[in-house]
Amino acid sequence: MSVAGRAVTVLGAGIGGLACALALARRGARVRVLEQSREIAEVGAGIQISPNGLRVLDALGLGDEVRAGAPKARAVSLRDHAAGREVVRLDLSRLAPGQDYRFVHRADLIAVLATAAHEAGVEIRLGRRVHAVTPGRPVGLRLAGGATAEAGLVIGADGVRSILRPALEGAEKARFTGQVAWRAVIDNDIDHPPEARVHMGPGRHIVSYPLRGGAAINLVAVEERAAWTEEGWDHEDDPDALRAAFSAFGGDVPAMLNAVESVGLWGLHRHKVARRWHGPGVALLGDAAHPTLPFLAQGANMALEDAWVLAVCLDARDEAGTDAALARYQTLRRKRVERVIAAAEGNAWKYHLRNPLIRRSAHLAMGLLGRAAPE
Ligand code: FAD
Repeated sequence: MSVAGRAVTVLGAGIGGLACALALARRGARVRVLEQSREIAEVGAGIQISPNGLRVLDALGLGDEVRAGAPKARAVSLRDHAAGREVVRLDLSRLAPGQDYRFVHRADLIAVLATAAHEAGVEIRLGRRVHAVTPGRPVGLRLAGGATAEAGLVIGADGVRSILRPALEGAEKARFTGQVAWRAVIDNDIDHPPEARVHMGPGRHIVSYPLRGGAAINLVAVEERAAWTEEGWDHEDDPDALRAAFSAFGGDVPAMLNAVESVGLWGLHRHKVARRWHGPGVALLGDAAHPTLPFLAQGANMALEDAWVLAVCLDARDEAGTDAALARYQTLRRKRVERVIAAAEGNAWKYHLRNPLIRRSAHLAMGLLGRAAPE
């Protein structure tokens, strides 16, 4: 089975959808992307792209473009909240030659992917919200306004509120984790070094890292909270609420928070990994199949890996048909994704220890483990 000449419809022009569209187009598929937004505009924020994600971008021929202007991370530094003392340092210079870890602006990554997809012949249709997908041969699509269409192969890269996922396995109920997150981008007036700093305090933590040649800093601040009603990225909050929540933090944190002029706030929810990633003529990828908490910075990296593996499976030069290719894709991806998601979920409590004695002991243990880490 080869994907060359095959018509593929991708739902969603996010990082996963665009990477998959490009990977398939490079193998000769005729790809169109249906995106609900009227423009490809990402909320201004950063994203950490680790060596696994960069490997996919390199394979797509985009690694150098993505690296340009994206600071190369030299370390992950875990710090105690009170005075900003470093507890443990994960030295990223130990990465094998050719592997690196970058702090990328999401808008820049989306722009690079969208331009390359367009140049590879992918048709990106904006303002096309898909309301329903019916798996089958052909796959049925219902668009906003009631129009219907048929498609041969449909990839659901439509994010955490995927409309394809419930068509495969029914509605999924997300659970509030008891954590909310603020996200802001500020000017880099504190000369933040090229490292990801995790400032850990009781019941809360802040991650900071530089963006765009070091000119800006990305902040993600997480606080434990009893209740939340909505899920999404787009809730404006008062910067003073963020400053109040982290008023006990020292080191560089007060200076960074004082620079925040606008901030988004949202509730963090735990989702199950989809049981079925595919059905007749359809497949899920990225957050549509497995939304993850942001405590390991792997959601977009997993979406990039999915995109590449799905394209490879669909283009396998063997006798097996599409169903077998999609089943192979799920088999190759699901266990790995589950491991990564479990690791991300395990990180929050380590960052948020409340009891001062336990916190000090844990920080000591983290420091010893960090020093004992293999070269
Ligand atoms: P999305 O980016 O959600 O894209 C889905 C697209 O589909 C959107 O463009 C949407 O408009 C479109 N769409 C949705 N429904 C429809 C429809 N019905 N019809 C048509 N179009 C539709 N990951 C990392 O790897 N590194 C990080 O450092 C990192 N930091 C994060 C920080 C925070 C605070 C959060 C919340 C997440 C972070 N992530 C990170 C996770 C990462 O952002 C997501 O996992 C990733 O964006 C998922 O990509 P996607 O393409 O699957 O989905």
